[in-house]
Formats: sequence, structure tokens, C-alpha cells
Amino acid sequence: MQVIFDHSEAETGNITSFYFKPDQPVRYTAGQFIELTLPHPRPDERGIKHWFTLSSAPSQPYLRITTRLAGEQGSSFKRNLAKLKPGKAVMMSDPMGDFVLPKLIQTPLVFVAGGIGITPYLSMLQWLADTGEQRPVKLLWGINSEADIAFQDLFDKVSQHVTVIVRNPASAWGGEQGQLSPELILGLEKPGEDALIYMSGPEPMIEGLSNDLHKAGVPRRQIVTDFFPGYETI
Ligand SMILES: Cc1cc2nc3c(=O)[nH]c(=O)nc-3n(C[C@H](O)[C@H](O)[C@H](O)COP(=O)(O)OP(=O)(O)OC[C@H]3O[C@@H](n4cnc5c(N)ncnc54)[C@H](O)[C@@H]3O)c2cc1C
Repeated sequence: MQVIFDHSEAETGNITSFYFKPDQPVRYTAGQFIELTLPHPRPDERGIKHWFTLSSAPSQPYLRITTRLAGEQGSSFKRNLAKLKPGKAVMMSDPMGDFVLPKLIQTPLVFVAGGIGITPYLSMLQWLADTGEQRPVKLLWGINSEADIAFQDLFDKVSQHVTVIVRNPASAWGGEQGQLSPELILGLEKPGEDALIYMSGPEPMIEGLSNDLHKAGVPRRQIVTDFFPGYETI
């Protein structure tokens, strides 16, 4: 489908959201992703097509993606994305993917995000806020530094407590620090057999964490993963 770029908003120093208007309302499920095509001169080996989770909710009029921009170190795709002019038409695939909320609303959920892997949960939490649906959710977010903290408005709106784990904090940081680990995810109380642990973020990180969780005794059927290629581990 063709969508029109509307505007972008900086979320932090290097995380930016891009808003697109579709011709007609698009049906999708919170947590799904799209493929965005951005033709540009002399694309590098990362190409003119990229996958992005829709960080907007289906209840909202625009389609939003949220991504980390590496400035001049970034791919040719990202450098051109950052230069999009409002009104520009681009091609977006239909939304797809099954990293979505489970059917049973009573299912206890542990959402684990590594860095920009927060995007599917932004969509899901916004959807819960817009529909008034209540679900038992615990959210853990591993980031590199305090400068990566964002989206507090949404977390406040849905009264969602977020445990932020900072890899390289400044000395004044009073919260959790280090790397996301099975110990942090499982916490003092191991999630019950009916719980699901969702994990989203850089591919090597999520692969390692899901294997470690499995080794720590969590059955594979309780682990739901969304891998973002192209990024380093947090
Ligand atoms: C289902 C799915 C959902 C996804 N959802 C999201 C999402 O919501 N948000 C999101 O940001 N990403 C998402 N991704 C990942 C996304 O598709 C990109 O792979 C990712 O953003 C990295 O983009 P990039 O390759 O343009 O690199 P950049 O983001 O520009 O750079 C990332 C790192 O790679 C280095 N790098 C960049 N270009 C090159 C190059 N040519 N050669 C070597 N190193 C290079 C940079 O220096 C930087 O360290 C998703 C992927 C999938 C499969």
C-alpha cells in the first residue's frame, strides 16, 4: 500500500518516531510489523527495504514506526529515512506477524525489551489503553544508558510500571543496572505455568536470553520471541 509520510518526532537523542498516513484505515493487530520500501541513490548492502514494528496502535489514525538512528554511521536506508520530507509517498507492506497479545486476557505476561525492542509493547500498551482492556503485565526494559529512557507518558497513561535496567549507568542511577538476565526476568517469584514471557530486541541478545531462560527451567512454549536483526546486543 502507499502511505504518506506526515512528520517525525524525536523520542530521545537517537530514537525517532516516523508517522505515516494511509489512504484508508489499515487493519492490524498490536505488535505486528511491516516492510517499508525507501528507494534512494546508491543504497548500501542493507538495501532499500527494512522491517519495522508498528509502534502505533490499531486504534490510532496514523501508522508509526520507531527506530534508532546512528547518524552518519547508519545505513543508507536510515540516513534517507531521516531526510524524508512531509508529503512524500512511500510503499509499505500490509502488517504481518504473530508477536501479538495472546487470546486469553487472563494470561500473566512478562514483557522483556532490549533497547529499541520496546516497539511492539508500545503498540500493545497503547491498544490496551485505548480499548480499556486490563491484562496482568510486568515490563522489563534493558537499555544502554539513562539517555535511552523514553515513552514515560504512555507508561503513566496505562499505569504500567517499568523496571528499567541500565547497562552503563552514571553513578547517580539508583535503579537496576547491568545486563538483562534470567535472574532479573524471573525475579523473586518464578512466573507460573500459565504465564508467557515475551522477548523483543537485537537478535543475538534475544537468542541468548531465550536459551538462558530455557536452561533456567522455563519451557519453550512459555517463551515468545521477536528478533530485530541489524543491531548489536545491548
Ligand atoms: C520483525 C522485525 C521487526 C523490526 N522492528 C524494528 C523496530 O521497530 N525498530 C527498529 O529500529 N528496527 C526494527 N527491526 C530491525 C530493522 O529492520 C533493521 O534491521 C534495524 O533497524 C537496523 O537498521 P540498519 O541495518 O539500517 O542499521 P542502522 O540502524 O543504521 O545501524 C545499526 C548498526 O549497524 C551499523 N551499520 C549500519 N549500516 C551498516 C553497513 N552498511 N555495514 C556495516 N554496519 C552497518 C551501524 O553503524 C550501527 O552500529 C525489525 C526487524 C524485524 C525483522
